[in-house]
Amino acid sequence: MIINPITNGIVLDHIKAGGAMEIYNILKLGNLDCTVAMIKNADSVKMGKKDIIKIFDIIDINLDILGYLAPGITVSIIRDGELAKRIHLELPEEVHDVIRCRNPRCITSIEQELPQIFTLTNREQHTYRCIYCESKAKDRQ
Ligand code: ZN
Repeated sequence: MIINPITNGIVLDHIKAGGAMEIYNILKLGNLDCTVAMIKNADSVKMGKKDIIKIFDIIDINLDILGYLAPGITVSIIRDGELAKRIHLELPEEVHDVIRCRNPRCITSIEQELPQIFTLTNREQHTYRCIYCESKAKDRQ
């Protein structure tokens, strides 16, 4: 398969090998009309193997969700064939409506219209806690 260079679009690079499909699904890339290329198990000097997603259009991506799911990936935005912006994603300090609190006594379980907000309390261990009841979010690993 030959993939043309992107004129206007977004490249998600340094995705851990095997992780591209989950990101594809969560960002709902299947709903896009533009070309989307997924490259699995590309050779990486830094990572051994990695996945890459190329989106041939500049779309809105929720970087908080992406940073929460896949810290460490690189987002490159390409305009008119040139690199316009490169962002290295890290775990966001706060996530809104990405994780749900599992504590049945939490106010968000009772008042369903409240936003689900979690803050990062330990970056090394990827720990997020509910801002209302301080319950720990379920670990993704
Ligand atoms: Zn809670």
